[in-house]
Amino acid sequence: MKKYQFWFIVGTQHLYGEKIFASINDHAKEMAEYLNINTKIDADIVFKQIVKTSDEIYEVMEEANQHKDCAGVITWMHTFSPSKMWIKGLNILQKPLVQLHTQYNQEIPFEEIDMDFMNLNQSAHGDREHGFIHAVMRRPRKVISGYYKNERVVLRIEKWMRSAVGVAESRKLHVVRFGDNMRNVAVTEGNKVSAEIKFGWSVNGYGIGDLAEQLKHVTQLEIREQMDKYKQFYELDTSDLSSVEYQAKIQVAMRQFLDQRNAKAFTTTFEDLHGLNQLPGLAVQDLMREGYGFGAEGDWKTSALLRVMNSMSVGLDKGNSFMEDYTYHLPYNEELVLGAHMLEVSPSIAKTKPVVEVHPLGIGSKNDPARAVFDAKEGKAIQASLIDLGNRFRLIVTDCIAVEPKADMPKLPVARAMWKLLPNFEVATEAWLLSGGAHHTVMSYDLDVDVLRDYADMMDIEFVHINKDTKIETLREQLIIKDIIYKFK
Ligand code: MN
Repeated sequence: MKKYQFWFIVGTQHLYGEKIFASINDHAKEMAEYLNINTKIDADIVFKQIVKTSDEIYEVMEEANQHKDCAGVITWMHTFSPSKMWIKGLNILQKPLVQLHTQYNQEIPFEEIDMDFMNLNQSAHGDREHGFIHAVMRRPRKVISGYYKNERVVLRIEKWMRSAVGVAESRKLHVVRFGDNMRNVAVTEGNKVSAEIKFGWSVNGYGIGDLAEQLKHVTQLEIREQMDKYKQFYELDTSDLSSVEYQAKIQVAMRQFLDQRNAKAFTTTFEDLHGLNQLPGLAVQDLMREGYGFGAEGDWKTSALLRVMNSMSVGLDKGNSFMEDYTYHLPYNEELVLGAHMLEVSPSIAKTKPVVEVHPLGIGSKNDPARAVFDAKEGKAIQASLIDLGNRFRLIVTDCIAVEPKADMPKLPVARAMWKLLPNFEVATEAWLLSGGAHHTVMSYDLDVDVLRDYADMMDIEFVHINKDTKIETLREQLIIKDIIYKFK
């Protein structure tokens, strides 16, 4: 992962004079350093400069656009900064922007306060002037208000940074599709041209024969090195080591194939495995653990979304995975969802060290594939699904609570997660179906809805959040209103 920067740009105007500029510089530097140290994301907040004129603002925005490591801009008006000066710069800015509405001092120094203090500490009205220009320009941006040392303010800035890193990674993402979508499936389809225009995702298909060819060039040494890594991350519980070695071979070939094309996400499909002896199981799982995005049955939208969400999670370690809503446990008021896939769930969400096993697979008619088996962690999580509605993309997120499985499932040798939905099964699943959410999702323990909502805003796509407060009638009305809005957009 590239280490991104966020530029703290502080607005003022030329009228104030050098003495005040020196104070603003000192304050801004101190504030940027505080935020940089206290945000738990492997990206830097750097104090860029104070800006005093229209030309300075234009130049710094132009520089932000061109700077490869700059993933976003944080603006704050220490003093008044007449915002007509900001129009040219904001007009060309292509990176996400957050307006931080804060103050250098936490308290008013009642005994000392004089007009000099008032002239220096003017964000209460400087930021209002700044907010107005964004509103009148209809610029997408986020506003975060509060004293900059408040834990909540710091966390909200950190989450916004995560969304912006997702945007930066989206803009350069390549997705490799081994084979096409599973035949006749609707929800995994979508317009790849629209996706590249909207998200920057370049999604391209390859014949599975190209991967089979790559497989032939994998060396014994490469397989052995991959097996050593497996031993580090997994318990091996099988006598069929050759099956595990075959997955190691697939993984090496896939990684080479992806890296040669600078691709960070991929799809497979069990309907197109010509030239492969096993469905890629452990190979895919371990590539997800390494950070690659993955979608099964040709599901490139979920694959890209997983990669983007992995990039948003830098510095966090609870994990994200490709997931599928599989089957239900339906005692009234105790309903649970059992999520799994044929094989491909990321070990990053495992509760304990995963066990590698080899079992037959009832689908795909290939050799018994090796797979990592485990139960997923417990705790708060989200499920996210991206769908293509023809005239727009809709990102749907549902809050859930992952729980310990009710009982052992000794005859189900796949990785699985179990969760309960909010506010309850009835409302959450009805809302999900009414919204058109897929059976494939990205399950994340690292990210919450705020990160994805801001990402959707930055990408200018529709967003639906299903949560403890969801009411079906309100949701239905919102969906109708969105349909009308997008008809004219
Ligand atoms: Mn599936």
